[in-house]
Amino acid sequence: MNAKNFSSLPLSTEMVQNLNAIGYTQMTPIQEQSLPYILEGRDVLAQAKTGSGKTAAFGIGLLSKLDVKKFRVQSLILCPTRELAEQVARELRQIAKFAHNIKILTLCGGVAFGPQLGSLRHGAHIVVGTPGRILKHLSKESLDLENLQTLVFDEADRMLDMGFSEEIEKVLEFVPKQRQTLLFSATYPEEILDLSSSVQQDAISIKTTTQEVANKITQRFYEVSGEQKIKTLINIFSTFKPQNAIVFSNTKIEADEIASKLQKSNIDALAIHGDLEQYDRNDVLVQFSNGSSRVLVATDVAARGLDIKELSMVVNYDLPHSLETYTHRIGRTARAGAEGLAFTLYEPWEAEKVEEYRDGERLFECAGDLKISNGFSMTPEFITLVIEGGKKDKLRAGDLLGALTGDAGLAGTSIGKIDVYERQTYVAIEAKLVDEAQKRLSGGKIKGKKFSVWIL
Ligand code: ADP
Ligand code: MG
Repeated sequence: MNAKNFSSLPLSTEMVQNLNAIGYTQMTPIQEQSLPYILEGRDVLAQAKTGSGKTAAFGIGLLSKLDVKKFRVQSLILCPTRELAEQVARELRQIAKFAHNIKILTLCGGVAFGPQLGSLRHGAHIVVGTPGRILKHLSKESLDLENLQTLVFDEADRMLDMGFSEEIEKVLEFVPKQRQTLLFSATYPEEILDLSSSVQQDAISIKTTTQEVANKITQRFYEVSGEQKIKTLINIFSTFKPQNAIVFSNTKIEADEIASKLQKSNIDALAIHGDLEQYDRNDVLVQFSNGSSRVLVATDVAARGLDIKELSMVVNYDLPHSLETYTHRIGRTARAGAEGLAFTLYEPWEAEKVEEYRDGERLFECAGDLKISNGFSMTPEFITLVIEGGKKDKLRAGDLLGALTGDAGLAGTSIGKIDVYERQTYVAIEAKLVDEAQKRLSGGKIKGKKFSVWIL
Protein backbone atom coordinates (compact mmCIF):
# COMPACT_ATOMS: atom_id res chain seq x y z
CA MET A 1 0.00 0.00 0.00
CA ASN A 2 1.30 3.41 -0.93
CA ALA A 3 1.85 5.54 2.17
CA LYS A 4 0.55 8.54 0.29
CA ASN A 5 -2.84 6.97 -0.37
CA PHE A 6 -5.70 8.09 1.82
CA SER A 7 -6.47 4.42 2.40
CA SER A 8 -3.32 4.20 4.53
CA LEU A 9 -5.10 6.36 7.12
CA PRO A 10 -7.70 5.24 9.66
CA LEU A 11 -10.59 6.62 7.58
CA SER A 12 -13.93 5.07 6.72
CA THR A 13 -14.25 3.36 3.35
CA GLU A 14 -16.94 5.88 2.38
CA MET A 15 -14.60 8.78 3.13
CA VAL A 16 -11.78 7.29 1.05
CA GLN A 17 -14.09 6.40 -1.83
CA ASN A 18 -15.48 9.90 -1.95
CA LEU A 19 -12.00 11.44 -1.84
CA ASN A 20 -11.03 9.32 -4.80
CA ALA A 21 -14.25 10.27 -6.56
CA ILE A 22 -13.43 13.97 -6.25
CA GLY A 23 -9.96 13.32 -7.61
CA TYR A 24 -7.97 13.15 -4.38
CA THR A 25 -6.02 9.95 -4.85
CA GLN A 26 -2.76 10.90 -3.19
CA MET A 27 -2.17 13.03 -0.14
CA THR A 28 -0.34 16.30 -0.58
CA PRO A 29 2.76 16.65 1.64
CA ILE A 30 0.99 18.68 4.31
CA GLN A 31 -1.87 16.18 4.41
CA GLU A 32 0.54 13.28 4.63
CA GLN A 33 2.40 14.86 7.52
CA SER A 34 -0.46 16.29 9.52
CA LEU A 35 -3.38 13.89 9.06
CA PRO A 36 -2.02 11.04 11.19
CA TYR A 37 -1.81 13.43 14.17
CA ILE A 38 -5.06 15.22 13.39
CA LEU A 39 -6.86 11.89 13.27
CA GLU A 40 -5.33 10.96 16.62
CA GLY A 41 -7.01 14.03 18.04
CA ARG A 42 -3.81 15.98 18.63
CA ASP A 43 -3.55 19.75 18.37
CA VAL A 44 -1.58 20.57 15.25
CA LEU A 45 0.17 23.75 14.17
CA ALA A 46 0.82 23.46 10.46
CA GLN A 47 2.56 25.69 8.02
CA ALA A 48 2.38 25.10 4.30
CA LYS A 49 2.23 27.26 1.24
CA THR A 50 -0.97 28.48 -0.32
CA GLY A 51 -2.42 25.83 -2.58
CA SER A 52 -0.92 22.91 -0.70
CA GLY A 53 -4.21 21.36 0.38
CA LYS A 54 -4.57 22.62 3.94
CA THR A 55 -8.37 22.77 3.79
CA ALA A 56 -8.66 19.05 3.15
CA ALA A 57 -6.10 18.36 5.89
CA PHE A 58 -8.30 19.84 8.60
CA GLY A 59 -11.52 19.06 6.70
CA ILE A 60 -10.90 15.31 6.60
CA GLY A 61 -9.94 15.48 10.26
CA LEU A 62 -13.02 17.21 11.54
CA LEU A 63 -15.41 15.40 9.22
CA SER A 64 -14.16 11.98 10.14
CA LYS A 65 -14.98 12.51 13.79
CA LEU A 66 -18.26 14.27 13.21
CA ASP A 67 -21.35 12.66 14.69
CA VAL A 68 -23.94 13.36 12.01
CA LYS A 69 -26.83 12.19 14.18
CA LYS A 70 -26.00 14.79 16.76
CA PHE A 71 -27.34 17.96 15.21
CA ARG A 72 -25.14 20.43 17.07
CA VAL A 73 -22.24 22.62 15.99
CA GLN A 74 -19.24 20.34 16.40
CA SER A 75 -16.64 22.26 14.40
CA LEU A 76 -15.87 25.92 13.99
CA ILE A 77 -13.49 27.20 11.35
CA LEU A 78 -12.33 30.79 11.64
CA CYS A 79 -11.18 32.46 8.42
CA PRO A 80 -9.90 35.98 7.69
CA THR A 81 -12.34 36.89 4.91
CA ARG A 82 -15.73 36.03 3.55
CA GLU A 83 -14.33 34.78 0.25
CA LEU A 84 -12.04 32.41 2.09
CA ALA A 85 -14.81 31.18 4.34
CA GLU A 86 -17.00 30.48 1.34
CA GLN A 87 -14.19 28.69 -0.39
CA VAL A 88 -13.50 26.56 2.69
CA ALA A 89 -17.20 25.73 2.98
CA ARG A 90 -17.27 24.67 -0.69
CA GLU A 91 -14.28 22.40 -0.25
CA LEU A 92 -15.75 20.91 2.94
CA ARG A 93 -19.02 20.18 1.17
CA GLN A 94 -17.10 18.22 -1.45
CA ILE A 95 -15.33 16.17 1.18
CA ALA A 96 -18.56 15.78 3.18
CA LYS A 97 -20.29 14.04 0.29
CA PHE A 98 -19.33 10.68 1.78
CA ALA A 99 -22.28 11.04 4.13
CA HIS A 100 -25.79 12.44 3.80
CA ASN A 101 -27.10 15.53 5.48
CA ILE A 102 -23.98 17.11 6.86
CA LYS A 103 -24.95 20.72 7.33
CA ILE A 104 -22.23 23.33 6.81
CA LEU A 105 -23.05 26.97 7.44
CA THR A 106 -21.03 30.12 6.69
CA LEU A 107 -21.37 33.12 8.99
CA CYS A 108 -19.51 36.17 7.73
CA GLY A 109 -19.66 39.91 8.00
CA GLY A 110 -20.68 42.07 5.06
CA VAL A 111 -23.97 40.21 4.67
CA ALA A 112 -27.30 40.67 6.45
CA PHE A 113 -27.51 39.37 10.00
CA GLY A 114 -31.20 38.40 9.98
CA PRO A 115 -31.07 35.54 7.46
CA GLN A 116 -28.11 34.08 9.39
CA LEU A 117 -30.31 33.88 12.48
CA GLY A 118 -32.83 31.91 10.44
CA SER A 119 -30.17 29.50 9.19
CA LEU A 120 -28.83 29.03 12.70
CA ARG A 121 -32.28 28.15 13.96
CA HIS A 122 -32.31 25.32 11.43
CA GLY A 123 -29.08 24.05 12.95
CA ALA A 124 -25.68 23.05 11.59
CA HIS A 125 -22.86 20.58 12.20
CA ILE A 126 -20.06 22.81 11.01
CA VAL A 127 -19.75 26.58 11.02
CA VAL A 128 -17.25 28.49 8.90
CA GLY A 129 -16.95 32.21 9.46
CA THR A 130 -15.04 35.40 10.11
CA PRO A 131 -14.15 36.21 13.75
CA GLY A 132 -16.19 39.43 14.02
CA ARG A 133 -19.47 37.92 12.87
CA ILE A 134 -18.99 34.70 14.82
CA LEU A 135 -18.44 36.77 17.96
CA LYS A 136 -21.59 38.75 17.28
CA HIS A 137 -23.64 35.55 17.08
CA LEU A 138 -22.01 34.22 20.23
CA SER A 139 -22.75 37.40 22.16
CA LYS A 140 -26.35 37.38 21.01
CA GLU A 141 -26.57 33.70 21.88
CA SER A 142 -27.74 32.78 18.40
CA LEU A 143 -24.72 30.47 18.13
CA ASP A 144 -24.01 27.86 20.76
CA LEU A 145 -20.64 26.14 20.83
CA GLU A 146 -21.18 23.98 23.87
CA ASN A 147 -20.79 20.81 21.78
CA LEU A 148 -17.74 21.99 19.88
CA GLN A 149 -15.12 19.30 19.26
CA THR A 150 -12.79 20.95 16.78
CA LEU A 151 -11.70 24.55 16.46
CA VAL A 152 -9.74 25.53 13.35
CA PHE A 153 -7.84 28.72 12.63
CA ASP A 154 -7.37 28.86 8.88
CA GLU A 155 -4.90 31.37 7.43
CA ALA A 156 -4.09 32.35 10.99
CA ASP A 157 -1.30 34.67 9.84
CA ARG A 158 -3.71 36.72 7.79
CA MET A 159 -6.25 36.85 10.58
CA LEU A 160 -3.62 38.34 12.84
CA ASP A 161 -2.49 40.71 10.07
CA MET A 162 -6.03 41.94 9.79
CA GLY A 163 -6.20 42.69 13.49
CA PHE A 164 -8.62 39.96 14.56
CA SER A 165 -6.71 39.01 17.73
CA GLU A 166 -9.17 40.73 20.02
CA GLU A 167 -12.19 39.03 18.47
CA ILE A 168 -10.39 35.69 18.54
CA GLU A 169 -9.68 36.09 22.23
CA LYS A 170 -13.33 36.79 22.93
CA VAL A 171 -14.55 33.89 20.78
CA LEU A 172 -12.40 31.60 22.91
CA GLU A 173 -14.47 32.45 25.98
CA PHE A 174 -17.42 30.67 24.36
CA VAL A 175 -15.54 27.53 23.40
CA PRO A 176 -15.17 24.41 25.56
CA LYS A 177 -11.70 23.92 27.05
CA GLN A 178 -11.75 20.28 26.07
CA ARG A 179 -11.38 20.36 22.30
CA GLN A 180 -9.02 19.81 19.41
CA THR A 181 -7.47 22.97 18.03
CA LEU A 182 -5.87 23.11 14.60
CA LEU A 183 -3.91 26.10 13.43
CA PHE A 184 -3.02 26.59 9.78
CA SER A 185 -0.89 29.28 8.33
CA ALA A 186 1.03 29.98 5.13
CA THR A 187 3.77 31.87 6.96
CA TYR A 188 5.28 31.46 10.39
CA PRO A 189 5.79 34.78 12.12
CA GLU A 190 6.42 35.02 15.87
CA GLU A 191 2.78 35.94 16.52
CA ILE A 192 1.63 32.55 15.28
CA LEU A 193 3.65 30.81 17.96
CA ASP A 194 2.11 33.14 20.55
CA LEU A 195 -1.36 32.36 19.28
CA SER A 196 -0.59 28.65 19.28
CA SER A 197 0.59 28.67 22.87
CA SER A 198 -2.52 30.53 23.99
CA VAL A 199 -5.07 28.35 22.16
CA GLN A 200 -3.42 24.95 21.75
CA GLN A 201 -2.19 22.24 24.07
CA ASP A 202 0.89 20.19 23.46
CA ALA A 203 0.67 20.99 19.76
CA ILE A 204 2.59 19.10 17.12
CA SER A 205 4.29 21.56 14.82
CA ILE A 206 4.57 20.71 11.15
CA LYS A 207 6.30 22.65 8.43
CA THR A 208 6.44 21.41 4.89
CA THR A 209 9.29 22.51 2.74
CA THR A 210 8.19 25.04 0.20
CA GLN A 211 10.80 23.94 -2.31
CA GLU A 212 8.54 21.72 -4.36
CA VAL A 213 5.97 24.38 -5.14
CA ALA A 214 8.37 27.30 -5.28
CA ASN A 215 10.38 25.64 -8.04
CA LYS A 216 7.44 25.65 -10.35
CA ILE A 217 7.20 29.41 -10.32
CA THR A 218 9.56 31.17 -12.68
CA GLN A 219 10.42 34.51 -11.13
CA ARG A 220 11.67 37.37 -13.24
CA PHE A 221 12.75 40.85 -12.19
CA TYR A 222 13.11 43.97 -14.35
CA GLU A 223 14.61 47.31 -13.47
CA VAL A 224 12.50 50.04 -15.08
CA SER A 225 11.97 53.73 -14.50
CA GLY A 226 8.52 54.85 -13.36
CA GLU A 227 7.33 56.14 -16.73
CA GLN A 228 8.36 52.93 -18.49
CA LYS A 229 6.41 50.66 -16.18
CA ILE A 230 3.11 50.44 -18.04
CA LYS A 231 4.89 49.77 -21.30
CA THR A 232 6.96 47.06 -19.65
CA LEU A 233 3.86 45.49 -18.16
CA ILE A 234 2.21 45.35 -21.58
CA ASN A 235 5.37 43.88 -23.08
CA ILE A 236 5.39 41.21 -20.39
CA PHE A 237 1.84 40.30 -21.36
CA SER A 238 2.62 40.23 -25.06
CA THR A 239 5.77 38.16 -24.57
CA PHE A 240 4.38 35.59 -22.14
CA LYS A 241 0.72 35.63 -23.23
CA PRO A 242 -0.88 34.63 -19.94
CA GLN A 243 -4.43 33.35 -19.83
CA ASN A 244 -5.00 35.66 -16.87
CA ALA A 245 -2.95 37.73 -14.45
CA ILE A 246 -3.09 39.58 -11.16
CA VAL A 247 -1.11 42.80 -11.03
CA PHE A 248 -0.31 43.97 -7.50
CA SER A 249 0.13 47.63 -6.74
CA ASN A 250 1.08 49.13 -3.41
CA THR A 251 -1.64 51.81 -3.43
CA LYS A 252 -5.33 52.05 -4.30
CA ILE A 253 -4.91 55.11 -6.51
CA GLU A 254 -2.26 53.35 -8.52
CA ALA A 255 -4.46 50.26 -8.89
CA ASP A 256 -7.15 52.35 -10.58
CA GLU A 257 -4.59 54.12 -12.74
CA ILE A 258 -2.97 50.91 -13.95
CA ALA A 259 -6.32 49.38 -14.82
CA SER A 260 -7.44 52.38 -16.80
CA LYS A 261 -4.13 52.63 -18.67
CA LEU A 262 -4.34 48.95 -19.57
CA GLN A 263 -7.89 49.38 -20.83
CA LYS A 264 -6.71 52.20 -23.07
CA SER A 265 -4.19 49.77 -24.53
CA ASN A 266 -6.86 47.15 -25.32
CA ILE A 267 -6.01 45.00 -22.35
CA ASP A 268 -9.09 44.03 -20.51
CA ALA A 269 -8.49 44.87 -16.83
CA LEU A 270 -10.42 45.57 -13.64
CA ALA A 271 -9.18 47.12 -10.42
CA ILE A 272 -10.09 45.94 -6.97
CA HIS A 273 -9.23 47.64 -3.70
CA GLY A 274 -10.57 48.14 -0.22
CA ASP A 275 -12.64 51.19 -1.20
CA LEU A 276 -15.10 49.19 -3.25
CA GLU A 277 -18.45 48.26 -1.73
CA GLN A 278 -18.86 44.56 -1.07
CA TYR A 279 -21.27 44.28 -4.03
CA ASP A 280 -18.89 45.89 -6.50
CA ARG A 281 -16.09 43.81 -5.10
CA ASN A 282 -18.06 40.67 -5.70
CA ASP A 283 -18.83 41.75 -9.28
CA VAL A 284 -15.13 42.20 -9.96
CA LEU A 285 -14.10 38.92 -8.34
CA VAL A 286 -16.74 36.96 -10.20
CA GLN A 287 -15.74 38.44 -13.52
CA PHE A 288 -12.10 37.64 -12.97
CA SER A 289 -12.66 34.12 -11.73
CA ASN A 290 -15.05 33.20 -14.54
CA GLY A 291 -12.85 34.51 -17.33
CA SER A 292 -14.85 37.67 -18.13
CA SER A 293 -11.89 39.75 -17.20
CA ARG A 294 -8.33 38.63 -17.74
CA VAL A 295 -6.35 41.08 -15.68
CA LEU A 296 -7.08 42.04 -12.11
CA VAL A 297 -5.19 44.96 -10.59
CA ALA A 298 -5.24 44.65 -6.82
CA THR A 299 -3.80 45.95 -3.59
CA ASP A 300 -2.72 43.39 -0.99
CA VAL A 301 -5.65 44.14 1.24
CA ALA A 302 -8.16 43.72 -1.57
CA ALA A 303 -6.57 40.48 -2.72
CA ARG A 304 -6.79 38.88 0.70
CA GLY A 305 -8.75 35.71 0.59
CA LEU A 306 -8.99 35.87 -3.15
CA ASP A 307 -8.42 32.42 -4.51
CA ILE A 308 -8.40 31.97 -8.23
CA LYS A 309 -7.68 28.54 -9.53
CA GLU A 310 -5.45 28.43 -12.55
CA LEU A 311 -3.85 31.81 -12.26
CA SER A 312 -1.13 31.99 -14.90
CA MET A 313 0.72 35.11 -13.83
CA VAL A 314 1.39 37.43 -10.92
CA VAL A 315 3.01 40.80 -11.50
CA ASN A 316 4.41 43.00 -8.77
CA TYR A 317 4.06 46.42 -10.35
CA ASP A 318 6.07 47.80 -7.46
CA LEU A 319 8.58 46.06 -5.30
CA PRO A 320 6.56 44.59 -2.40
CA HIS A 321 7.15 46.01 1.08
CA SER A 322 8.63 42.76 2.31
CA LEU A 323 9.77 39.34 1.15
CA GLU A 324 6.90 37.91 3.16
CA THR A 325 4.38 39.85 1.05
CA TYR A 326 6.25 38.82 -2.07
CA THR A 327 5.96 35.14 -1.17
CA HIS A 328 2.27 35.52 -0.39
CA ARG A 329 1.60 37.22 -3.71
CA ILE A 330 3.47 34.90 -6.02
CA GLY A 331 2.13 31.82 -4.20
CA ARG A 332 -1.18 32.47 -5.91
CA THR A 333 0.13 31.27 -9.23
CA ALA A 334 1.32 27.72 -9.95
CA ARG A 335 -1.50 26.11 -8.03
CA ALA A 336 -2.05 22.37 -8.11
CA GLY A 337 1.13 21.59 -9.97
CA ALA A 338 0.64 23.99 -12.87
CA GLU A 339 3.57 26.17 -13.80
CA GLY A 340 3.38 29.77 -12.70
CA LEU A 341 4.96 33.01 -13.80
CA ALA A 342 5.92 35.78 -11.43
CA PHE A 343 7.23 39.20 -12.47
CA THR A 344 8.51 42.07 -10.41
CA LEU A 345 9.23 45.60 -11.55
CA TYR A 346 11.51 47.81 -9.51
CA GLU A 347 12.85 51.27 -10.09
CA PRO A 348 16.54 52.17 -10.27
CA TRP A 349 16.42 53.77 -6.80
CA GLU A 350 15.23 50.45 -5.38
CA ALA A 351 18.29 48.60 -6.68
CA GLU A 352 19.67 48.21 -3.19
CA LYS A 353 16.43 46.92 -1.71
CA VAL A 354 16.08 44.35 -4.48
CA GLU A 355 19.39 42.78 -3.45
CA GLU A 356 17.64 40.72 -0.79
CA TYR A 357 15.69 39.01 -3.56
CA ARG A 358 18.74 37.64 -5.31
CA ASP A 359 19.01 33.97 -4.54
CA GLY A 360 20.55 32.45 -7.64
CA GLU A 361 17.20 31.18 -8.88
CA ARG A 362 15.31 34.39 -9.48
CA LEU A 363 16.07 35.79 -12.89
CA PHE A 364 17.12 39.41 -13.32
CA GLU A 365 16.49 40.32 -16.91
CA CYS A 366 16.54 43.32 -19.15
CA ALA A 367 13.16 44.86 -19.94
CA GLY A 368 14.52 45.76 -23.37
CA ASP A 369 14.59 42.05 -24.26
CA LEU A 370 10.84 41.72 -23.95
CA LYS A 371 8.93 41.43 -27.17
CA ILE A 372 7.21 44.58 -28.33
CA SER A 373 4.21 43.70 -30.33
CA ASN A 374 2.11 46.48 -31.71
CA GLY A 375 -1.58 45.84 -31.75
CA PHE A 376 -1.40 43.33 -28.92
CA SER A 377 -4.68 42.96 -27.06
CA MET A 378 -6.16 40.81 -24.33
CA THR A 379 -9.87 40.29 -24.63
CA PRO A 380 -11.92 38.06 -22.41
CA GLU A 381 -13.32 34.77 -23.59
CA PHE A 382 -16.53 35.28 -21.65
CA ILE A 383 -18.97 38.03 -20.72
CA THR A 384 -20.96 37.85 -17.49
CA LEU A 385 -24.74 37.98 -17.35
CA VAL A 386 -26.35 38.86 -14.05
CA ILE A 387 -29.73 37.36 -13.19
CA GLU A 388 -31.66 39.17 -10.50
CA GLY A 389 -32.45 36.01 -8.59
CA GLY A 390 -30.52 33.45 -6.60
CA LYS A 391 -30.64 30.92 -3.81
CA LYS A 392 -33.53 32.65 -2.10
CA ASP A 393 -35.55 32.02 -5.29
CA LYS A 394 -34.33 28.41 -5.22
CA LEU A 395 -32.39 28.97 -8.43
CA ARG A 396 -29.67 26.44 -9.13
CA ALA A 397 -26.93 26.35 -11.73
CA GLY A 398 -28.79 23.55 -13.51
CA ASP A 399 -31.88 25.75 -13.97
CA LEU A 400 -29.86 28.39 -15.77
CA LEU A 401 -28.06 25.82 -17.86
CA GLY A 402 -31.44 24.34 -18.80
CA ALA A 403 -32.94 27.70 -19.71
CA LEU A 404 -29.95 28.57 -21.88
CA THR A 405 -29.46 25.30 -23.68
CA GLY A 406 -33.02 23.96 -23.91
CA ASP A 407 -35.15 24.16 -27.10
CA ALA A 408 -32.27 24.44 -29.57
CA GLY A 409 -30.63 27.10 -27.45
CA LEU A 410 -26.96 27.69 -26.85
CA ALA A 411 -24.45 24.86 -26.88
CA GLY A 412 -23.37 23.78 -23.40
CA THR A 413 -19.79 24.55 -24.33
CA SER A 414 -20.53 28.25 -24.78
CA ILE A 415 -21.55 28.56 -21.15
CA GLY A 416 -18.86 29.01 -18.54
CA LYS A 417 -18.89 29.26 -14.78
CA ILE A 418 -22.21 29.80 -13.02
CA ASP A 419 -22.10 31.40 -9.57
CA VAL A 420 -25.34 31.38 -7.60
CA TYR A 421 -25.49 33.82 -4.68
CA GLU A 422 -28.30 34.63 -2.31
CA ARG A 423 -30.04 37.20 -4.50
CA GLN A 424 -28.08 37.15 -7.73
CA THR A 425 -26.67 34.67 -10.17
CA TYR A 426 -23.73 35.24 -12.48
CA VAL A 427 -23.37 33.26 -15.69
CA ALA A 428 -20.31 33.45 -17.91
CA ILE A 429 -21.29 33.31 -21.60
CA GLU A 430 -19.02 33.04 -24.58
CA ALA A 431 -18.55 36.68 -25.58
CA LYS A 432 -20.11 36.57 -29.04
CA LEU A 433 -23.26 34.85 -27.78
CA VAL A 434 -24.02 37.12 -24.88
CA ASP A 435 -26.83 39.07 -26.57
CA GLU A 436 -28.57 35.90 -27.62
CA ALA A 437 -28.22 34.49 -24.12
CA GLN A 438 -29.62 37.63 -22.56
CA LYS A 439 -32.60 37.55 -24.92
CA ARG A 440 -33.32 33.93 -24.05
CA LEU A 441 -33.13 34.46 -20.33
CA SER A 442 -35.10 37.68 -20.16
CA GLY A 443 -37.66 36.51 -22.71
CA GLY A 444 -38.60 33.25 -21.06
CA LYS A 445 -39.22 32.09 -17.55
CA ILE A 446 -36.83 30.30 -15.27
CA LYS A 447 -38.47 27.96 -12.79
CA GLY A 448 -41.79 29.50 -13.78
CA LYS A 449 -40.68 33.00 -12.89
CA LYS A 450 -39.46 36.03 -14.80
CA PHE A 451 -36.16 37.54 -13.73
CA SER A 452 -34.42 40.65 -14.95
CA VAL A 453 -31.14 39.95 -16.66
CA TRP A 454 -28.35 42.34 -17.54
CA ILE A 455 -24.83 42.32 -18.90
CA LEU A 456 -22.15 43.17 -16.37
P1 ADP B 1 -4.44 25.86 0.83
O1 ADP B 1 -5.53 26.05 1.84
O2 ADP B 1 -3.25 25.14 1.36
O3 ADP B 1 -4.07 27.13 0.17
P2 ADP B 1 -6.42 24.39 -0.61
O4 ADP B 1 -6.90 23.61 0.53
O5 ADP B 1 -7.28 25.53 -1.05
O6 ADP B 1 -4.96 24.93 -0.33
O7 ADP B 1 -6.14 23.38 -1.81
C1 ADP B 1 -5.66 23.79 -3.06
C2 ADP B 1 -6.25 22.94 -4.17
O8 ADP B 1 -5.79 21.60 -4.10
C3 ADP B 1 -7.76 22.87 -4.11
O9 ADP B 1 -8.25 23.05 -5.41
C4 ADP B 1 -8.06 21.48 -3.61
O10 ADP B 1 -9.29 21.02 -4.10
C5 ADP B 1 -6.88 20.69 -4.16
N1 ADP B 1 -6.50 19.51 -3.36
C6 ADP B 1 -6.40 19.42 -2.01
N2 ADP B 1 -5.99 18.19 -1.63
C7 ADP B 1 -5.81 17.47 -2.75
C8 ADP B 1 -5.39 16.12 -3.01
N3 ADP B 1 -5.05 15.29 -2.04
N4 ADP B 1 -5.34 15.73 -4.30
C9 ADP B 1 -5.68 16.60 -5.30
N5 ADP B 1 -6.07 17.87 -5.12
C10 ADP B 1 -6.13 18.32 -3.86
MG1 MG C 1 -6.48 27.61 2.61
